[in-house]
Amino acid sequence: MTELVEHRRRYPVERVPESSLHAVFRASRRWTDTHGREANALHVGEPAFAMPPAAVEAMRRALLDGRCAYTSAEGMPELREALVAKLAAQGVGTTADHVFVTPGSCQGLSAVGAAVHTPGAAWLIPRVHWPIYRQQGVLNGYDVAGYPLGPGYALDVAAVARTATPATRVIVVNSPANPTGAVADPDALRELLALATERDWLVVSDEAYEDFVYEGGHPPLAALEADVEPARRRVFSAFTFSKGYAMTGCRVGYIVAPNDEFAGLLRRVQEGSIIAPPTPAQIGALAALGDGDAVRANVAAVRGSRDAAMGALVEAGLIAGPPAGGWYALLDIASSGHTATEFADRLLAEYGVAVAPAAAFTVPGDPSTRTVVRISFAGDRTRLLEGTEALLRACRTWGGERAAGRA
Ligand code: PMP
Repeated sequence: MTELVEHRRRYPVERVPESSLHAVFRASRRWTDTHGREANALHVGEPAFAMPPAAVEAMRRALLDGRCAYTSAEGMPELREALVAKLAAQGVGTTADHVFVTPGSCQGLSAVGAAVHTPGAAWLIPRVHWPIYRQQGVLNGYDVAGYPLGPGYALDVAAVARTATPATRVIVVNSPANPTGAVADPDALRELLALATERDWLVVSDEAYEDFVYEGGHPPLAALEADVEPARRRVFSAFTFSKGYAMTGCRVGYIVAPNDEFAGLLRRVQEGSIIAPPTPAQIGALAALGDGDAVRANVAAVRGSRDAAMGALVEAGLIAGPPAGGWYALLDIASSGHTATEFADRLLAEYGVAVAPAAAFTVPGDPSTRTVVRISFAGDRTRLLEGTEALLRACRTWGGERAAGRA
């Protein structure tokens, strides 16, 4: 018996951090069951809009026509060629043999981590990050470290340089960022690429929210190495159909590998882990790709919700300004007199509104997010406004109670 326990403790996967975000999901579901109506789920990143009708129709046809056989590990050639054209329009010169369609970009990111892992390597991620980066780093056998961000959660290349160690092998960059909503400045990205080149790091650029940039455009990071000869390129890019096309459950994303060598490594991982991405979803993605209007409408909807919700939150001092990109905002609820976890528990219990404490998105013991929670503004606008109104009322009421208690 003892022996078994000792044995089980040796699984490295036990080091994978449990997601405290899932605790919010469970609590929100419990609230819904108890109250017989839906909790206002501001913690979830699910869009209010649906996938493009052309993609639905293409998937329906694919199923009716029995197009359900495996594709290659890299995905359907027609889709990869269409993605090459999409990327070329964004300044990323690539070829179909460097493009891998993946079951969601999440799996693609993990596969890149597995493909380039070397013993003792460190995986450097933003200190405030999408928690899956940390889990993937551990799962792939890396030492994981967080690099500090600058004011407004901006990419601060000097801080990256200070945090890196000789073991650093891969750096993850995420712009527009989840959960911060920050969009990296192109000059900072150029500096980062120069640092990565100097120190011989690989760069993983997660651009899941590429369409959701509210001021200016989104030049993909890989476009910055257009003039570098392919053998010396170092940027892996991750994109997805989940956000701009609202195809979250279809599970289609793609990775662009920098050159033949890295594409070869990634192919081995994909052959050994997925066989192929799902065929009907790829057919749907190809149809979606032709529907630029859908993306523009979806971006306009999220921007409108952001603008409708942020004014009052900025005015109350919970956030400095509207997020420049993505679907999320980090709010500092210190005025409520609670920590983020206490606040989230009480907001759900008393107002039926679920928010995620930012501890779920940072390294253990990071004091900077003690009173910070994340909300998504991509969901239903009416619910968003009801939720943010309740959140502001809670801050005022509980902050007032605390002040009265002290007086
Ligand atoms: N990157 C970021 C920053 C995300 O927020 C998400 C989804 N929450 C993903 C990648 C993964 O999306 P998918 O696997 O659906 O492509």
